[in-house]
Amino acid sequence: MPINPAAPYDDQNVFAKILRGEIPSQEVYQDEFAYAFHDVNPQAPVHILVIPRGSYVSWDDFSAQASAEEIAGFVRAVGHVAREQGLVVRGYRMMANIGRNGGQEVAHLHVHLFGGRPLGPMIG
Ligand code: 5GP
Repeated sequence: MPINPAAPYDDQNVFAKILRGEIPSQEVYQDEFAYAFHDVNPQAPVHILVIPRGSYVSWDDFSAQASAEEIAGFVRAVGHVAREQGLVVRGYRMMANIGRNGGQEVAHLHVHLFGGRPLGPMIG
């Protein structure tokens, strides 16, 4: 079903279940604000998803409603994961899909980190 970023947060989405440990994931990093894990269907040699611990559907409600502390903590976590995974020297791509036209499939904000090969021009 297409994601509606304006819809209320659904705590049965797959990433909410991953955060609660109800379904398994391959952890990369976690802290107070964020959880990072490998994408189950990687589109590059490195494909990591970073999600906030808070209940946000997309970048839209996150940017509007999250506290400054949550936003700073999440942004720092994304950068930390990229550095820790060795993505920075050769470069990488970060991406967040929002809503139907953005191609968002899971209704919990997630930032994709792609790396490990030249990625070419932006897709889509
Ligand atoms: P979106 O299209 O919403 O930006 O991306 C959703 C991403 O979540 C996809 O890349 C998809 O492979 C990944 N994904 C969906 N379900 C699972 C899951 O259960 N576990 C993991 N690790 N990744 C998932």
